[in-house]
Amino acid sequence: MNTLRHRLDQTIRDVPDFPKAGILFKDITPVLEDPVLCKQIVNAFCASFEAMKVDAIAGIESRGFLFGLPIAIEMGIPFITIRKKGKLPAETVSYEYDLEYGSAAIEMHKGVLDPNWNVMVHDDLLATGGTAAAAAELIKSQNAQLAGFSFLIELSFLEGMKKLENYSKDVVRLISF
Ligand code: AMP
Repeated sequence: MNTLRHRLDQTIRDVPDFPKAGILFKDITPVLEDPVLCKQIVNAFCASFEAMKVDAIAGIESRGFLFGLPIAIEMGIPFITIRKKGKLPAETVSYEYDLEYGSAAIEMHKGVLDPNWNVMVHDDLLATGGTAAAAAELIKSQNAQLAGFSFLIELSFLEGMKKLENYSKDVVRLISF
């Protein structure tokens, strides 16, 4: 196990039965309390994006904002917020997707993406992949290009990678459980 993965493994906290019974929640708040580790995370993402053409980072509410913005600042590129429906103040475009029970919608501000951009989807955790795939569809609906996907954590048993394979883009994960 490399050093960063080892540090993440030691620091990410498992919280059983949150937000409901049967879910093992991966709590990254202890990671945020360690500035050296946070810097290593930002550096690791930036290094892994070097070989790709990335023009903007699209972070998914809310934990996708935590490292998405520092990565974008470090790379000197725009940070785009993807939020749950009804949270963004100006005119938005939205994408609705299916959940296990019912549906959800995510939004971004209209006109915020340049069609020439390669946009990197970023979130804290890849579970079933539904949210990240919806973000990719939202980006594509604005005629921008998808650069890839990036996550701090992958829960491999939920097979989110299968959903993202359809996009034939790189999927960066710093640690898999
Ligand atoms: P999914 O669309 O199933 O890939 O779910 C990904 C989203 O749900 C991410 O924004 C995660 O923050 C959150 N999420 C799902 N499962 C967990 C978990 N076990 N621990 C922490 N966050 C989770």
